Amino acid sequence: MTNRRTGQRAGTPVGGRGRGRRRGGRHSRKKSYKAQWFSVTALAVLGVVMVLHPDATQERNLAAQFSDQAAASRTIEPPVVAPTQIPTPTATFTMPLRPAPTLTRQPRGSAPNVTVSSGRLGVVPGFDKAIGTKDKLTYRIEIEEGLSFNGAVVAAAVHKTLTDPRGWQAIHPLNFERTDSVDADLRVILATPTLTDKLCLPLITGGEVSCRVEDRVVLNAKRWMYAVPAYSGKVDLYRSYLVNHEVGHALGHGHSTCVTANTPAPVMMQQTKGLAGCLPNAWPTIKAT
Ligand SMILES: [Zn+2]
Repeated sequence: MTNRRTGQRAGTPVGGRGRGRRRGGRHSRKKSYKAQWFSVTALAVLGVVMVLHPDATQERNLAAQFSDQAAASRTIEPPVVAPTQIPTPTATFTMPLRPAPTLTRQPRGSAPNVTVSSGRLGVVPGFDKAIGTKDKLTYRIEIEEGLSFNGAVVAAAVHKTLTDPRGWQAIHPLNFERTDSVDADLRVILATPTLTDKLCLPLITGGEVSCRVEDRVVLNAKRWMYAVPAYSGKVDLYRSYLVNHEVGHALGHGHSTCVTANTPAPVMMQQTKGLAGCLPNAWPTIKAT
C-alpha cells in the first residue's frame, strides 16, 4: 500500500492535473476494498483448513521444499479466481536435456596417412637416456609432418628395439641414447615413400623400401605401417627388423643372405624383398652376420 501511494505521488507532477489524481484515488480505493475482501476471505479459508487439517502448514512447507517454482506461482497468483475454487498450480514443463550423440564408428576417410607427403620433417621432442657405461651413440627421431603416427609411440618403439638385449648393444661397445638435439649422431627418419626416395638418393628405394645414407636412417612409412606379407601380420617384429637392419648399416654392416632354409634370416638380409626360405628375424644376435 505504501509503495502504491508513493507511486501515485510521484506520478502527479508528471500528469499535472487533478482529474488524474482523483481517478487514481478511486481506482486505488476500489483495489483496496477488493484486496481487503480477498484477504478476509482467504484468512477465513486458511483458518478452516488449518482447523480441519492441522498438518496443512507442514505439508505446505514440505511441498515448498520440493517445488520452489510451484510455491512461487502460488504466492504471486493474482486473485482472479473465486476463493472456493482450488487454484491449479501453473506447471512449467521443460524438455529434458538430451545427451550429446556418441559416435559409434570411425568417420569415413580415417585411414592412416602413410603416402601423402608434406615434405617437412618434425623432430620428436624428448630424451631416452642411455643405460650402461659404454660409449653413447645418440640419435633423434624425425617424422614427416602429416603422417598418422604418434611421435612418442614411434620413439618408444625405436628405443625399445635399439636397447633390446638381442640388439646391437650386445654386439657393439655402445649404448643408444635418444635425444632431440641437432648434433645427434644419427637421424632416424620416418617418411612417406615419396620423401624416402628423395632422402635415400643416390640409393634407389622405389617407394617401397627403406635405407641408410650418411647419418640418415630413413624408414618407409608404408612399410612401418603395413610391414610385408612374409611377416604374417607381425608388424612390431617387422618394425624392429627395419630399425636394426638400417642402423646395422650405420654401424658398418653390409648385406647377407639366407643360407639355411627354415632358420632365422640374418637381420642384415634384405627381408623386405623376400625371405628366400628363411624365417622372419629382427635381431642381430640371432644368426648375426
Ligand atoms: Zn640394407
